[in-house]
Amino acid sequence: MPLQDIKDRIEAEEARMSRPLGSTRLIAVSKVQPNERVQAVLEQGHRIFGENKVQEAASKWPAFKEQFENVELHLLGPLQTNKTKQAMELFDVIHSLDRLKLAKKLAALSAELSHCPDIFIQVNTGKEDQKAGVMPEEADSFISECKALGLPIIGLMCIPPADEEPSLHFALLAKIAKSNELQGLSMGMSSDFERAVAQGATHVRVGSAIFGERDYG
Ligand SMILES: *Cc1c(COP(=O)(O)O)cnc(C)c1O
Repeated sequence: MPLQDIKDRIEAEEARMSRPLGSTRLIAVSKVQPNERVQAVLEQGHRIFGENKVQEAASKWPAFKEQFENVELHLLGPLQTNKTKQAMELFDVIHSLDRLKLAKKLAALSAELSHCPDIFIQVNTGKEDQKAGVMPEEADSFISECKALGLPIIGLMCIPPADEEPSLHFALLAKIAKSNELQGLSMGMSSDFERAVAQGATHVRVGSAIFGERDYG
């Protein structure tokens, strides 16, 4: 689907919900996509991209960043502690903080590097074993611990269970964010980004609807 169609659909939803137009940032999720497709979206002027893996991002984004200015890169996938430094150097925003060990590592490195990406805490709203994220009932205390470490926590992120109505999960995430005075809400993917916008998403993460299906071959 053309990028402009996605943007129009986001704006239409913002208008319908009486949210300020342009208050949702569109992250184009380029993981696994061939470089030509990513290049084409860059050439249309889009600059906000998301990747799942540090290694994959490190292999393709330095070259794109040389060619295109003002690229803003978001890490969406789980972050291994031993890749924290590389992630902090490569990404502007990290969406997947989910444990204290990683929080402490980020805090120690931000002192060393004098810089820290903005951070979302991932919440496992569906309490699924296979998904990362803190449990909803542990979110309040984890958020406080991260703030106490001095981390720039800007919001919460979730990936709802595939077989449940995502709006319920988006609403839960919004509620936890609000009670912790966090503004950012990273939620909504290709199949449900409009419902996420309706629930107040500040960042939607859209991959296949922009680039086409991923070929994991
Ligand atoms: C892959 C991925 C997306 C994008 O998924 P699509 O369904 O292709 O839009 C969004 N968020 C995360 C965390 C992902 O891993």
